[in-house]
Amino acid sequence: MKQDKTLPPEEIERQYDYMRRVREWNREGLKACVLTFGCQQNEADSEKLAGMAEKMGYTLTETPADADLIVVNTCAVREHAELKALSVTGQFKHLKEKKKSLLIALCGCMVSQEHRKDGIRKSYPYVDLVFGTSRLYAFPELLFDCLLTRRRSFCLDAGDEGNIPEGLPSARKSKSRAWLSIMYGCNNFCTYCVVPYVRGRERSRRREAILSEAKELLETGCREITLLGQNVNSYGKDLYDGYDFADLLREIASLEGDFLVRFMTSHPKDASEKLIDTIAENAKIAKAFHLPLQSGSNAILAAMNRRYTRERYLSLVEYMRKKMPDIALSTDIIVGFPGESEDDFEKTLSLVREVKFDNIYSFLYSKRKGTPAASSPDQIDEKVKGERFQRLLAVQDEIARQKSASLAGRIETILVEGRSKTDDTRLTGRTESNRLVHFIGEDGLIDRKVRVRIDRGEPHALYGTLLDKP
Ligand code: SF4
Repeated sequence: MKQDKTLPPEEIERQYDYMRRVREWNREGLKACVLTFGCQQNEADSEKLAGMAEKMGYTLTETPADADLIVVNTCAVREHAELKALSVTGQFKHLKEKKKSLLIALCGCMVSQEHRKDGIRKSYPYVDLVFGTSRLYAFPELLFDCLLTRRRSFCLDAGDEGNIPEGLPSARKSKSRAWLSIMYGCNNFCTYCVVPYVRGRERSRRREAILSEAKELLETGCREITLLGQNVNSYGKDLYDGYDFADLLREIASLEGDFLVRFMTSHPKDASEKLIDTIAENAKIAKAFHLPLQSGSNAILAAMNRRYTRERYLSLVEYMRKKMPDIALSTDIIVGFPGESEDDFEKTLSLVREVKFDNIYSFLYSKRKGTPAASSPDQIDEKVKGERFQRLLAVQDEIARQKSASLAGRIETILVEGRSKTDDTRLTGRTESNRLVHFIGEDGLIDRKVRVRIDRGEPHALYGTLLDKP
């Protein structure tokens, strides 16, 4: 084994001791509210923060006004996400004025950025506790210190990379679906991205720890596990000689039980034929692949430091479709990266037309302070970005409309997630290919697998009829 970055177990025991001390210190009946901005890794982190809060005696609430402890887990991937987290935090000032004992904590990627530290300290004096992603495991200790001294606490040493905490409690939001982090950080330094600066370099969890968590999840009723990492295809490179992500995926898929395993996010430069073969050969690995493209122009891909070409991307797609003709493909695309010409953008459109993705997550390029792309003199005019964005949406909408319509009449097995957010007469679930399906059904079906006949498809959702009796 190469360098194992797991925290010593004594450190985690120390945190459990602080959880006990906070519980004893606090009066009974206190509530905690954990708010999450950003990606699935943040969702997974928030479940840990909520799990620790529960162990410290807090009952979880979704209403900040009811809470005695509010934790805002922030995101830094786009400016919009940062401004939203700051604006939400700003609204808590009046809650603190009404309830002096309220504690407010800010954590996550945004606060780990060097340029944010002083601003938060000065402009948000009612925030008690600020800690970066590498200190998430120390939340109980930091909170106890805050309670004891009533002093504000800032713990932002994002350089700490020996920090894979094993064995923290987690308050999972869903009984049937779970996030499972397999690694942290990123080594890639794409020129638009802050992740390597705020989450540090790649650190893989030990395979035994991942497998044991997966088994525990399955034993407690989980039916779908999503493996998480900024670049899951790099899993194990820092830890093992030869054992890689495809090997891990195969081992998880060989565990007993009726479940599906998904993963995100992949990097095209590291996606291998071995990985694609592993997905094709295992019924328990969802036939869905999210492969961020970002741009269809080789010049822009080079400027982004993505280290693959349009041709390499297309050859991966071709191999996937040869092995799994029905595989669902989704991607991320950044519109208006500095220097993107009309010709570059047309290359992105032509690739989108060629691949015919099932789903695209498209974003307007957003300057991130401290990244090379932010200081490029070739920034694209906002109006041009907006117009290109609309053109991309129009192309993809037509592709998605045709694909969805072609699914009418199919019978799909879906895992029911809950009530539809837009129509509470319907339940919502996802197909193996990660498509949303809405149908009429009873609450008792939530967290269960059911068969649904697809009646009609719209670009972003399918509508069906339940075939199984409740
Ligand atoms: S691969 Fe690139 S975009 Fe993804 S997290 Fe790493 S640096 Fe950011």
